[in-house]
Amino acid sequence: MHLEKVLSKLTPKERGFISTLIERDPLTGVYNRRKFNHDIQLLVSMAERMSRGSGLLIIDIDDFKKFNDEFGHTEGDKILRKVAQVIEKSLRDYDKIHIYRYGGEEFILIIPDTTVSDAHAIGERLRQNVRNSCGVTVSVGVSHYKEISNSMHELLVDADKALYVAKRGGKDQVAVYYKRPH
Ligand code: GH3
Ligand code: MG
Ligand code: MG
Repeated sequence: MHLEKVLSKLTPKERGFISTLIERDPLTGVYNRRKFNHDIQLLVSMAERMSRGSGLLIIDIDDFKKFNDEFGHTEGDKILRKVAQVIEKSLRDYDKIHIYRYGGEEFILIIPDTTVSDAHAIGERLRQNVRNSCGVTVSVGVSHYKEISNSMHELLVDADKALYVAKRGGKDQVAVYYKRPH
């Protein structure tokens, strides 16, 4: 049976409970990868209606393996929650930006209808906030359709390349991977 049909049979409270189970990451409370896969499809279908295009940020905690080795997995989990909280707080002014836990110590932001320079500025703000309050640092990879990526599908691949540039550049920084001269 289709999920929407199942949900429509529930009370609003039950629906909220089930949606949380389906869409949220249990550790941090932010959206999970399943929700990301769903939302990115929506973004693709909306792409042509947005004049400025859309940005995508990958945020990866620096040297997190070392942190776990030194302080233990439980402390590591606390840091993951804290980083997610700080990112969420930093985004309070932008109700259209969603945050997802994509993998172990990686988060993704989808930023609809924005420019690459605004996406970069958001990444820079997050980086500083995490640095100032979490006890770890993050590296951020920025991509943008259409200023960088030629299709919405390339967004994730190009953000990952940008993240690699940020890591190679010494971590605790935001990078954009430009594949064309600009
Ligand atoms: P880099 O700066 O290059 O990103 O190095 P890194 O150590 O952060 O990256 P690496 O991919 O080598 O290690 C990721 C670490 O993240 C290893 C793993 O133990 C930790 N990690 C992933 N998921 C969780 C989790 O749910 N809880 C905790 N505590 N640690 C996690
Ligand atoms: Mg990683
Ligand atoms: Mg890492």
